Amino acid sequence: MNVQTNLENIQENIQAVCEKVNRSSDEVKIIAVTKYVSTERAQEAIAAGVNNLGENRDEGLLEKQAVIKNGAVWHYIGSLQSRKVKNIINKVDYIHSLDRISLAKEIEKRANKPIKCFVQVNVSGEDSKQGLSKEEIIPFVKSLSDFKQIEVVGLMTMAPFTSDETVLRNCFRNLKLIQKEVLSLQLSHAPCKELSMGMSNDYQIAIEEGATMVRIGTALVGKEK
Ligand SMILES: *Cc1c(COP(=O)(O)O)cnc(C)c1O
Repeated sequence: MNVQTNLENIQENIQAVCEKVNRSSDEVKIIAVTKYVSTERAQEAIAAGVNNLGENRDEGLLEKQAVIKNGAVWHYIGSLQSRKVKNIINKVDYIHSLDRISLAKEIEKRANKPIKCFVQVNVSGEDSKQGLSKEEIIPFVKSLSDFKQIEVVGLMTMAPFTSDETVLRNCFRNLKLIQKEVLSLQLSHAPCKELSMGMSNDYQIAIEEGATMVRIGTALVGKEK
């Protein structure tokens, strides 16, 4: 399927979900996750009107940025090794995977300007998942106040790999509850308005539960590699 058609389907679904739960679809941004596809395919997403692009490796990001020069907003969505920070830090607009102080230190050292970060939460507590546990979030976010280059714009999670709707919904709902706790602290370095949650298989549930950014790969641009 071409990206334009996929996008129209996804937008219709988003519209329907938003109507169901009384949200405005303007509150939900689609990030096209292009990690599985070619630069040409990523350009199709741009042409279709999605200007938020997500990559999870430095090579993939730099390869696409060499061609896509204007108009894109870049999101780094994968687990980020500290030694890779210097390769991407001043080339992305958002980092969705801040999950440790050592990474914050490296970002602080390398960033030329403040960078919008999501703190990644392992809501489900699965061993295989990146991110901090629920209990670790508040102390971690507080400790980021020392970092001038880090703005905590929101929280991010990846739901468990399951089709069980209840499990998925609980995961997203819990992230929203943690966000409320962060918001109640009213920290100037952590406005924390955004929730980055929902992927191809679960974005509708995520939006029902308050997602403001959905990260969609397969259902939007497909999977080539
Ligand atoms: C790959 C990836 C996605 C997109 O996954 P799809 O199921 O293809 O939509 C979203 N978020 C993260 C962090 C990813 O690594």
